Parts: sequence; structure tokens; C-alpha cells
Amino acid sequence: MFGKILIANRGEIACRVIRTARKLGVRTVAVYSDADARSLHVEMADEAVHIGPSPVGESYLRGDKIVAAALASGAQAVHPGYGFLSENPDFVDQVTAAGLVFIGPSAASIRAMGLKDAAKRLMEKAGVPVVPGYHGEAQEIVLLASKAREIGYPVLIKARAGGGGKGMRRVEHPDDFSEALSSARREAKAAFGDDRVLVEKYVEKPRHIEVQVFGDNFGNAVHLYERDCSAQRRHQKVIEEAAAPGMTPALRKAMTEAAVKAAKAISYSGAGTIEFIVDASQGLKADRFWFMEMNTRLQVEHPVTEMVTGTDLVEWQLRVAAGEKLPRTQQEIELVGHAFEARIYAEDAAKGFLPATGTLHHLKFPDAAPEGATMRIETGVRAGDTISPYYDPMIAKLVVHAKDRAAALTALRKALAETEVAGSTVNTAFLWALAGNADFAAGDVDTGLIGRHQEALVAVPSPGDETIAAAALAVTDAGVPATATDPWSALSGYAHFHTLARRTRLRYGDETILARVSPRPDGRFQVALEVPHDAVNAHDLRTMPPAALWPGHVTVFEGAIGYTFAVPDPLAKADEAGAGSGSLRAPMPGLVKLVRAAAGDAVSKGQPLLILEAMKMEHTIAAPQDGIIAEIAAEGAQVSDGTVLVRFAEDSPA
Ligand code: ADP
Ligand code: ADP
Ligand code: MG
Repeated sequence: MFGKILIANRGEIACRVIRTARKLGVRTVAVYSDADARSLHVEMADEAVHIGPSPVGESYLRGDKIVAAALASGAQAVHPGYGFLSENPDFVDQVTAAGLVFIGPSAASIRAMGLKDAAKRLMEKAGVPVVPGYHGEAQEIVLLASKAREIGYPVLIKARAGGGGKGMRRVEHPDDFSEALSSARREAKAAFGDDRVLVEKYVEKPRHIEVQVFGDNFGNAVHLYERDCSAQRRHQKVIEEAAAPGMTPALRKAMTEAAVKAAKAISYSGAGTIEFIVDASQGLKADRFWFMEMNTRLQVEHPVTEMVTGTDLVEWQLRVAAGEKLPRTQQEIELVGHAFEARIYAEDAAKGFLPATGTLHHLKFPDAAPEGATMRIETGVRAGDTISPYYDPMIAKLVVHAKDRAAALTALRKALAETEVAGSTVNTAFLWALAGNADFAAGDVDTGLIGRHQEALVAVPSPGDETIAAAALAVTDAGVPATATDPWSALSGYAHFHTLARRTRLRYGDETILARVSPRPDGRFQVALEVPHDAVNAHDLRTMPPAALWPGHVTVFEGAIGYTFAVPDPLAKADEAGAGSGSLRAPMPGLVKLVRAAAGDAVSKGQPLLILEAMKMEHTIAAPQDGIIAEIAAEGAQVSDGTVLVRFAEDSPA
């Protein structure tokens, strides 16, 4: 076994690898960018090496810097995690040329599977069923269009270099083909620098079922059963499970045999996944599955496989890379119970699952596994850490295992309901709703399920009076903690022994709510809500739902739903963007896309001053007051949460 390894990744997967390395007595070296200087994976590793600025192109994608860090720290091997350089054969060459071991397959295996068209041709030769379609070299529009007609609509255009659901277009009708082709090509060119495509039959009632495979350097290859990843939004997985619901012995046999055949065809070593698309329109049939692609790395959802097979796949990776044989034979790999993984992301389900950013002021996972289940929380963040616009906005993976699917699903919902995140928009309520969807619960899943139920799955009910009362009580009871730099937090603390009623102003969406909180002699509180258009409702509150106070806000947790109220600062003439004391601050980290005013300009309240781009959204930042601009952020500047974007001259009219 290695004495020391370097982990060329960040976030939860870096932490995950470190845990297993430690278990095996292997020392670890982390790498980090500017944004990650104080992150969890750096804290957990034995050593850490700074490799550059926050953008991935200057840090986590810099193979040269990573290899230099490995050599300088005396590491013998490099674990790539997933994403970043994990499927880059040139990086594998760089690592091995430096005399280090790449913990993963050979560069040749990665190259064989790297392009979807070439991989399909290879699999076809090996006798693995592939999705019907065109995966040839010629790319003339006329040819592709006629192939599409031959295949039969609907078809799916895919970038051959594609990944992460990019460069993919479903086309319903021949009239739309050429336009869809151009847009798929544009996206593919921008994302992968390669605009070649393949055209596939769009499979009816498609289910994404993939098989975990593992090979060693002695020619052995095994499978560790399947995972169902049909719960997808934007062609991306959100809840995965093992085994696949409704799996039949015949289909399992056919799929796992095909997967092992695929792995052996490229002398595969290490962890890999063969992704298949299954036509479930007539139930699960052994002749209705086709190879889609191979991911030559550890998959995000590998924990569900570990849970049902009682394995540690990262341990297998390290052992195989160190030259050991596979720890188990095929006969020794058994499937027990059922496991789910839910990916908790900073994203806004109601706004088309737009990625979000923010500081996780409050982060609490369930204290214990739900009864009858085991649970794993895989995360790379702690309370107080920031989800930045630079990297994947995944906060955690919540993984549960129980004796059967129904028990595991109940445990998943319970664990989601006990998860509390405040400070960023999160998808916990969406995941909880999805896990509770009748079709999902029945195991009747396909990749269109989320789309069909989208409205119901993303709907969040308005907060009830009890919730509002709890928010008001949380604010007045404890007071909003004040930090010197924060323009929101001037509310003073409020002690239990006050006998006078306190009035609090809360904002939920566009609505402003006034609440009067009166302590009563028996230790209870009475909250009167003076909601516009509403009668005054008094609520006696003794036990409160959990609530978290964070700068300028309070979040009340009702099961998986977090209701966030803004607590406007009564002293500042502040507006949404967080103005105050003559300056305007960035409400979230982002990029200054466009600046529409200059120092010295006289501007009036409401006038757009600049556009801030955070993740994929543009936010117009308007003047909170009339005034003269003393200073304004530069176009192209990358700003963090709270950075001053605009400073007004002191003699500005108030
Ligand atoms: P990526 O490299 O982006 O993961 P995949 O080829 O794995 O690309 O496809 C991503 C997703 O798109 C799949 O999980 C599946 O939901 C859907 N998909 C892919 N091919 C087809 C197809 N031929 N018919 C229907 N859905 C498909
Ligand atoms: P899988 O196919 O393993 O389920 P996905 O394709 O859904 O995984 O997600 C893999 C993607 O995760 C990568 O393509 C990348 O966009 C993103 N990613 C890369 N590195 C990280 C990381 N350290 N943490 C979270 N996400 C990452
Ligand atoms: Mg895929």
C-alpha cells in the first residue's frame, strides 16, 4: 500500500477519499485554490498545497501544478476524485511520466471510452448492445438529417465529447432538426472544444440504469450490481438508488454480463461505470437496454453501491492501484437491502433549478440514522462555509440504507426533513417532495418523472401564521446577532425578562409582516400578527419549530421546508441590495458583468448601476438613493458576498 497520496480534487469527494486513506494508514496531501484555503478537505488532510487562484482553469485543472505538488510533498500516487481531471488521459500521462501512480484506469482505457461515438463503435464490436443511431465520422448536415429520419423521430443529438448533460438536444420533428443541431454544436464547441455529434433514437419511457464495474491489473473484472439514476433534472441525477426498482433476474443478468464484457474489452483497471438506457415502456425486458457511455472514474453516486454490497470502493481503488488483486470475487459480492442517495444542492428548484451561492450560516444534519436504517452524510462543507460561484454547488449527499426500498424511502424522507440549511437557497424541500411522489414511491421511475410533476414538486406553500409567529419570536427573543460589517444587523437583543411587547417587521417575498410579541408571566409568548389585509391573530407559542438566525434573516424549518424571512434593519434606509452608510454591497458573490455609471455621476434612486452575474443569473443592482458616486466596481471584477460595489460621495443628498 502507498505511504502517501495526493488528492487532486476538492469538496465532498476529497473528504471521502481522505477518510478511507486514513483508515488504511495512508497519509494524504490536499490541493486547494484561493477560495478553498480554509475548506474542510484542507483541514482534514495531513498536508495541503496551494495550487492557484479560484477559477478551475487556474487551479484544479492545472495538471502541471498538481504533479509538481505531488512530487514536492513526496506522494506516490494521485487520486483524481470525479470531475476535473479524472477522465483526462493527458493528465494520466503526466502523472505516470513523473513516476507517480494514477489511481484509476490507464490513459488508453480512458481514451477508448472518452468519445461517445468511438466508445459505441467499440462496444458494438465487443457485442454489447448500443443505442440505435448514427455514430459515424461524417458530419454533413444533410447526412445527419437523413440518418435522423432513418432512425425515426424523436431523436437525441449528442455531443460526442459530451458530459454533464451538455450539448444534448431532443428533436421531435424533422423541421426542427437543423436548428437543434446548430445549437447543440454551439454548446458542444463552447464546453468541450469539439462540435462533432452523434444522433440517437430517443428511447421511450427511458430509465437510466448503470452498472458498477471494477477491474484489476491481473485481468479480473467484476460487477457490483446496478444503480437506478432515472430521477434527473437537466439530464442530471438528483436521487439515485441501488438496486433498480422492479429489476428482473433476466435483465440484471443481461446487463451485468454486458457491463463486465465492456470492461474486459478495454482491459479495465479500477472503478468504472457502464451507463445504460432502458426502454421501460413495456416493463423491464432483457432485450431492451442499450449502452450509452462509460464513466472511467468513481461516480458521484458510488455510496449507494457501497451500502448494498458492504464494500468501500475507494479502498478497492487504492488496493488495485497499489498492485493488489480485487478484494472479492464475483461470487463473494452480494446485494443486501436497498439504498438511496439524495444530492443536496444550493439551487433554486422553482427557478428551473438554477444554481445558487451563499454562505451556509446554518447547517445541521440529522443527529442519528432514522430507526431501522443506516445513514451516511457525505459533505465537504461546514456551517459558515460558502458555496462560491466557482465550483459545483453540491452541499452534501445524504445516503440511507435499510432492509427494503419502502423502509429506505421512509428513512430518506425523515432524514431530509431533519436537515436544516440556511444562508443559501437549497433543494431539500424538492428532494423531500420527490421522495414522496406516488410514482417514485411505487418505483415507477423514468427520466421524465420530474418534468411531468415539476409544478407540484417545486411548489412551496406560503408560511402559515404559526411559522410567521415562530420567526417573529426567534427574532425578538434572541435578537439578531450584530456584526460590525453587516448593514442589516442593527436590531438590538431582547431579553426574556422584558415585560413590554416588542414589534418586529419581517419580510417574506414581497410581503411585509408586522408582529407584536408579548412575553407572558407563565413563560409563554403571545404573538399578534398584523399582516396587511388580515385580522390580528394571536398565537400562544411554547414550543417553537427550529429556527436559525443569520445576518439580516431568520429561517424557520418545517420538515424539509425552510421558510426564510428578511429582517429589515429599522435604522438603515436600506434597500434589497444591502445599502447603508453611503455604500452598496454585493448581495452574493459574483462577477461584475456590466457597469453603467462612473465615479462623479449623479444618479437617482432606482437607476440601474451595474449587472452582477452570479452562477448563471444576472442581477441588476440599482441605486438605493439619490446621490453622487464616489467609487464603483470595475467591469469584470470578481466580488465576494458583501464587497462594496458602489460608494456614494459624503455630500450626497440623504
Ligand atoms: P452525459 O455524458 O452528459 O452524462 P449521457 O449520454 O450519459 O450524457 O446522457 C445523459 C442523460 O440523458 C441520460 O442519463 C438519460 O437520462 C438521457 N439520455 C441519453 N441518451 C438517451 C436516449 N437515447 N434516449 C433517451 N434519453 C437519453
Ligand atoms: P456521475 O456521472 O458520477 O453521477 P455527474 O455527471 O452527475 O456524476 O457529476 C459529475 C460532475 O460533478 C462533473 O462532471 C462536474 O461537473 C462535477 N464535479 C466535479 N468535481 C466536483 C466536486 N469536487 N464536487 C462536486 N461536483 C464536482
Ligand atoms: Mg452520463
